[in-house]
Amino acid sequence: MILTITLNPAIDVRYKIDNFEINNVFRGNSHKTAGGKGLNVSRVLQLLGEKVEASGFLGGNSGEWISSKIQEDGIVDSFIKTNSETRTCIAILGNNTQTEILEPGQKVSQEDVNKFLEFFRENINKSETICISGSVPEGVQEDIYEVICELAKDKKVLLDTSGKFLINGIKGQPYLIKPNREELENLLGRELLSFDELLKGAKEIKNKGCKNLLLSLGKDGAIFINENDEVFKINIPKIKVKNPVGSGDSSIAGFAYGLNNGKSMNETLKLSMACGISNAMIEGTGIIDLDTVKDLLEKITIEKI
Ligand code: ADP
Repeated sequence: MILTITLNPAIDVRYKIDNFEINNVFRGNSHKTAGGKGLNVSRVLQLLGEKVEASGFLGGNSGEWISSKIQEDGIVDSFIKTNSETRTCIAILGNNTQTEILEPGQKVSQEDVNKFLEFFRENINKSETICISGSVPEGVQEDIYEVICELAKDKKVLLDTSGKFLINGIKGQPYLIKPNREELENLLGRELLSFDELLKGAKEIKNKGCKNLLLSLGKDGAIFINENDEVFKINIPKIKVKNPVGSGDSSIAGFAYGLNNGKSMNETLKLSMACGISNAMIEGTGIIDLDTVKDLLEKITIEKI
């Protein structure tokens, strides 16, 4: 069983509109998903065959909708139910363009935060692997991920967030962080143009406290730095992309599954990439196809550098 934490879930609304531009009118159907990065992780874990318990905050009609969706998917719903309406986020996908409108999320009360931390303390031992993903709604302290990581220091915590939440979370020494290039550049406040610059930047952040770091690089695969500071470059095949939104979350799910099921680090990294790639090949967000994943595993190579 894997416990996932999504403090700021969302109904993700997706439109497919080619040649989208401002100041124009477009028509098209929407597709709704129970979203927020941690729920994408949960869904992919469930598709991989893992039992998943999802937690965080859900509220209002949107919260109820998400709750019903995740239960339909067979995910255990352990969200704290709040009075704050869960947010909606919009993605407009066109031919090679992606426009997103992200609501910050409504304020959560201190009482709800306390309820969540109580739930976490009581349930921490149900799972060896814990996935924390995404942003934090207003009302929750900025160091919440550090607090969670410290409570779970005997577990393998995978922390996938950005900005101040990541900087604070790293202090709790998570097992893994997975920034992408943009998140790493934001953390460091500088552009990382060459492979050497990326590697140097990744090492700089890893040295702040996390045990392992997976720097995901979209179509260029990833760089992995392990607990012994050994560096691996992960090469992935070229594919036809349909929708890369949720690929990072899918790669977290693959990593968590490998870790939780005693796979070697090489197998775990390959599964992580294969899930990310498979997600990018499908229109939906946080969805993988198991046959594609199996096929991709043969095509991913890892080199120590
Ligand atoms: P994030 O969604 O967090 O920005 P990435 O875009 O780096 O993360 O994607 C995570 C992983 O998903 C990549 O390391 C890669 O394995 C796969 N992936 C993402 N985009 C593509 C793509 N365009 N082509 C092939 N694989 C992709």
